[in-house]
Amino acid sequence: MLRTIRRLLSAMLVLAALAVGASTWFYASWAPKDPPVTPDPAAAAWFADDYAAARRDFLARGDAIAARLSGVERFALAVPSRSGLQGLSVDALYVPAQVAPKRLLVISSGVHGVEGPTGSAVMRLFMAEFTSAEALAETGVLFLHTLNPYGFATGRRFTENNVDLNRNASTSDALYRTVNAGYPLVDAVINPQGPADTGSLANRLFHLRAVALIARHGMRTLRQAVLQGQYQVPRGIYYGGQALEPQLAALAPKLQAILEAYPLSMSLDLHTGYGARGRLHLFFDPPKDPRVRERLEAVFAGQAIDWGSGADFYTVTGDVVGWIGSLRRSGLHLPAVFEYGTMDSQTTLGSIRSLHVTLLENQGVQHGYASPGDEARIRRDYQEMFNPSSPAWRTQVITDSRAMLRAVMDNLPRVAPP
Ligand SMILES: [Zn+2]
Repeated sequence: MLRTIRRLLSAMLVLAALAVGASTWFYASWAPKDPPVTPDPAAAAWFADDYAAARRDFLARGDAIAARLSGVERFALAVPSRSGLQGLSVDALYVPAQVAPKRLLVISSGVHGVEGPTGSAVMRLFMAEFTSAEALAETGVLFLHTLNPYGFATGRRFTENNVDLNRNASTSDALYRTVNAGYPLVDAVINPQGPADTGSLANRLFHLRAVALIARHGMRTLRQAVLQGQYQVPRGIYYGGQALEPQLAALAPKLQAILEAYPLSMSLDLHTGYGARGRLHLFFDPPKDPRVRERLEAVFAGQAIDWGSGADFYTVTGDVVGWIGSLRRSGLHLPAVFEYGTMDSQTTLGSIRSLHVTLLENQGVQHGYASPGDEARIRRDYQEMFNPSSPAWRTQVITDSRAMLRAVMDNLPRVAPP
């Protein structure tokens, strides 16, 4: 009897070890699939991985627009760095409506610095293809190039202060006293101490630890806890800061003056990293004002909008497009976010991997790396998550953006004024 039990137990142990081994292998070798498109070198050429090169091209295109349209304003907000990095700035280009100021489009990129190459590419595509005097007769456009230039230049999502700009933007200091009640549930797992070591047992078995957390708290609760934003752990991920970051504070009065020249405005804020790889997601926080929802539905008629209420999305505090709207004292602002998916984060596996890549990078920045090999691997995975090098992915981004921007420019003029 005893011998049978022992045999059974050892068989179960072997099976469990096999299951752990197989899942660990599967997790380590998994990668999301590219969209099935033929790479187009002309599309991929819009991408500049280097901040200085992206900025130069933005400024040159801005000069060309200023030469052919009237009333164009350019301004730059310097973002000095403690680390001695030079030439970091938020560059703005304001092209007023050429005939009558009926509506304003605010296109912003690089709120999350490492996502800057895609945002810059899509913005420069718009500058090249959608800025005829005719298209801008009644529509003004404000381009905000790379709101987090430190992050673009160094390949980080967060600012030099470890602040996530998209959790930091608010006209009220009450934001910074927000308590994310779920964050303590995940703090120890997502903000590990000590040098980042990809070979450690905790990292090799990260998927199992994540699955245990999901089993205990549920995916919805965890996703919200991690991604919503937090104001208590300054070295942790998704930290929203204790005050408005300097470039947003400097931008606010200029932005306000331009917004108020129009009765209606709309934001297009460009992001990567969340959602199905190769898909352009319209990811909007559910608006409180039904007039806003109605108009966003009209602008994006026929497109699937995710209002942050589906099982796989989440809501955030301190987001930039909401803040832009709150700068208006009258009129209406339509906040829209484009998310170019990279990691299939709508799946459990993709979301676990996304979190793992994010936390390892922050651990490395905060506590150093166990070895140069760990640093290289962690930085490479982080880049690939937010700025995929795949020509097929980049081609899809440009193709989808061109179609979506066309739809916006066609539909926005039909939207009723407030
Ligand atoms: Zn982003």
